[in-house]
Amino acid sequence: MTETGNDAPRRARPLVLAAPSGTGKTTIAHRLVDEHDDFVFSISATTRTPRPGETDGVDYRFVSRERFDQMVERGEFAEWAEVHGNLYGTPTANLEAASERGDTVVLDIDVQGAAQIQAAMPDVTLVFVLPPDAPTMLDRITKRGTESEAEVKRRLRSALEELARVYEFERVVVNDDLDTAVADVEAMARGHEAGRRPFDETARIDTLRRDLAEALRMRMEAEAEDAESAGGS
Ligand code: ADP
Ligand code: 5GP
Repeated sequence: MTETGNDAPRRARPLVLAAPSGTGKTTIAHRLVDEHDDFVFSISATTRTPRPGETDGVDYRFVSRERFDQMVERGEFAEWAEVHGNLYGTPTANLEAASERGDTVVLDIDVQGAAQIQAAMPDVTLVFVLPPDAPTMLDRITKRGTESEAEVKRRLRSALEELARVYEFERVVVNDDLDTAVADVEAMARGHEAGRRPFDETARIDTLRRDLAEALRMRMEAEAEDAESAGGS
């Protein structure tokens, strides 16, 4: 177990990072786990196919739909949800193993899953990660280079739905400078952020929602124009 460099009692509440795709929450989760021995990543099960570079048992447990349904029936998930047309779930065993060791388990899950976890176990640290602005978020989604245009649109739609629920979250971190965001989330997980002035991101969230809705509208229009010209040729 890593020394925290602080006399505060060790806290090992699960850390739930929720956010729309492309905000950088996976990057933050992996940085925390890489840098601190007492943070462990919760490897979710998913029916999604692996992206290039992803490893089974490291990034996810990639399972068939049948296997996933079986895990649901057996009550093996602490939460599960359908996200972008695929099923994702957190095995309860991940939480139990970390809790036994006194480690902080990091859940990189969507907003629906975060709400389920919060309802089932109130003693968690729930953090919503925000991108600095819409262009940065779009850039992060597309620069990963793994998403088709249809997938980008689907993720934008989900992002708008997820952002509508940001006010359910007690803590919000803006992932602009990565080092700062990682340090902020670590402090929250360790319970060191008490006494901080709560910051109000209402204006940022409103602008983000407006700009993402506009980006989605433009992409839908471009798609309709393409379909029209293909049909007319
Ligand atoms: P998410 O899990 O929210 O979908 P990822 O962690 O996969 O997002 O990040 C999406 C892309 O953005 C990746 O290419 C990642 O390297 C990049 N990224 C994440 N955080 C930052 C940051 N603070 N500054 C610049 N690029 C970032
Ligand atoms: P991706 O396919 O980009 O890896 O993940 C898509 C979304 O599913 C992300 O928002 C990610 O956080 C979420 N996700 C990953 N694992 C889980 C999980 O176990 N449960 C839930 N509810 N969402 C998850």
